[in-house]
Amino acid sequence: MLSDREAEMLINSLRMDRCPDCQHHLQSGARGGAAQILTCTHCGASFSVAPPRYITFVRRLK
Ligand SMILES: [Zn+2]
Repeated sequence: MLSDREAEMLINSLRMDRCPDCQHHLQSGARGGAAQILTCTHCGASFSVAPPRYITFVRRLK
């Protein structure tokens, strides 16, 4: 489980279309319901975010 501070840092990066791990661009992936998958094209980090347009929830997938 992420702390509030960790989640906030992740969300800030993801809102700017930046990988929280390496700052490279993110690629939008599959979308299901309110959630969208974002994957880093550089390091492969992957996140499930919601809602896609203004992220308020994030879950790290890998
Ligand atoms: Zn990355």
